[in-house]
Amino acid sequence: MAGTEEKTQEGADSTKTGAATKPAELSNYDIVNHWFQVAADRLDLAGDLATVLRTSYREVQVQLPIKLTDGQIHVFSGFRVQHNGARGPYKGGIRYHPEVDLDEVRALASLMSWKTAIVGVPYGGAKGGINVPARELETHELEKLTRSFMDKIDRVIGPTRDIPAPDVNTNAQTMAWMMDEYGKLHGHTPACVTGKPIALGGSYGREAATGRGVVYCYREAAPQLGLTPPETRVAVQGFGNVGSWAARIMQHLGCTIVAVSDHTGSIHREQGIDSEDLKRHLDEGGELSDYDKADHISAEEFLGTDCEVFIPAALGGMIHADNADLIKAKVVLEGANSPTTPQADQILSDRGVLIIPDVLANAGGVVVSYFEWVQNLQHFRWDEREVNDKLGTIMRRAYREVNARARQDEVSLRTAAFELGIERVVEAARTRGYV
Ligand code: GLU
Repeated sequence: MAGTEEKTQEGADSTKTGAATKPAELSNYDIVNHWFQVAADRLDLAGDLATVLRTSYREVQVQLPIKLTDGQIHVFSGFRVQHNGARGPYKGGIRYHPEVDLDEVRALASLMSWKTAIVGVPYGGAKGGINVPARELETHELEKLTRSFMDKIDRVIGPTRDIPAPDVNTNAQTMAWMMDEYGKLHGHTPACVTGKPIALGGSYGREAATGRGVVYCYREAAPQLGLTPPETRVAVQGFGNVGSWAARIMQHLGCTIVAVSDHTGSIHREQGIDSEDLKRHLDEGGELSDYDKADHISAEEFLGTDCEVFIPAALGGMIHADNADLIKAKVVLEGANSPTTPQADQILSDRGVLIIPDVLANAGGVVVSYFEWVQNLQHFRWDEREVNDKLGTIMRRAYREVNARARQDEVSLRTAAFELGIERVVEAARTRGYV
């Protein structure tokens, strides 16, 4: 095994620098179940209905024995969980990480059911993953693993069944291998995965879409908070696909990126970090920890950065009871999935911090996945402007609907988003006669 790049990974960056940014003990499963229960109680869902919605429809676990370069056979576990398919084919990313387990994938699959319903794209929710230290594998080892995974889950995948996409430590290349392997078994089927390279039927704008969606949410929230881009200082936790795109697009908008952290360290510069330059530095093989155009700070100092917007774009549970107090931002824009534990959410909300929840803030990725799938099914390609404009229309509408619900019910954006998402899934399931 050797180092491998993760710079174009779809998902969050697995930041783990210092105690202040270590994930809480609470798992993604605990966090997601908590939010579900809050909304389910408010919606007064009958016990059996809540049970149906809390549990997955199908859970596939496969064994992946792979001979690595060290000559040894390593046995990895792969998962694909389909949570709820009432609104359409299952949809959700595939993550490669040593913390992946069935409970985490279950939780993330259920988030996809609510997320797709909140933004109104016609999908159910799914998630997959492999428990693997992806950064330590060489590219050809990752290819072997990915092809083997697709070989073993192909029967539950397909353009009208379940459509994977990138997530943490997976990217367009991973999707190319998955599409190719699926094609060997079923014939050329580009719509079987999204987040593919442009050359293989990927959509313009897909790679940036999650970060762009985060920025659309900022643009909706800013006037409510009296913020304009020139007065907005931003701290970004995690500089993988989501964090690096969110930072670059915020910067183009006129905001100042004052702090960035990733798994190697944290940097700060009051006058602004040039996130384009930082991205180039990382693409050229540099690390954030050796970037010399900003000051290097501790994980605690990073969290305590004076800023208006804090974007967690790393792993789940990074903002927890022991560090939430450090955050000084007015807005937390959740680029990652479940980055904030319920206790941290309470601490921040009590201080009047606006939290724009994951199921809304990071939904841009699945929205453009939907566009990619539609383009593949039509054998037609849209230009980037069309993709971005349509993404903007959907994100603005979703933000306004969630915000209106929050005001009407006097609840947080998160509770409002879960309520809306769950209601829409229940409506589809009821109309079909499932529940
Ligand atoms: N992995 C992304 C998410 O968590 C995108 C999923 C998709 O495009 O299907 O939303």
